[in-house]
Amino acid sequence: LSNPLFLLPTGFRLDHLGPEGDSIAAHLTAVSPSAACPTCGLPSSRVHSRYRRQLADLPSQGRRLRPLLTVRRFFCPAPDCSRRIFTERLPGLAAPRARATASLRHAQAAIGQALGGEVGARLAMPTSPDSLL
Ligand SMILES: [Zn+2]
Repeated sequence: LSNPLFLLPTGFRLDHLGPEGDSIAAHLTAVSPSAACPTCGLPSSRVHSRYRRQLADLPSQGRRLRPLLTVRRFFCPAPDCSRRIFTERLPGLAAPRARATASLRHAQAAIGQALGGEVGARLAMPTSPDSLL
């Protein structure tokens, strides 16, 4: 697979890669032993919970590649920090709360600038003209 996603996920383990419906699912689990609290910066290895995050990504060999991430929430170790629980960040893969990976957003921006929103939208599935402008 030449999809940029598979060059990026440092700190992730690929659990499953295979067809699911009309797309290819990539199940990725975050495996770094700790994460830094975004408020106070202290690292924590105490996992509070895990949840799944679905991202949209680039077409791959004519099919859509759908990354499904298992992401963790950690307890902040600092007793006086205002944030008791935080979600680990995914640098290089996806911004907090973003639905698309960084690679998809970069490709959308480049295609949108080169061809204009209407044409770019048809090439860069899945998206809409508005998201390219
Ligand atoms: Zn903190």
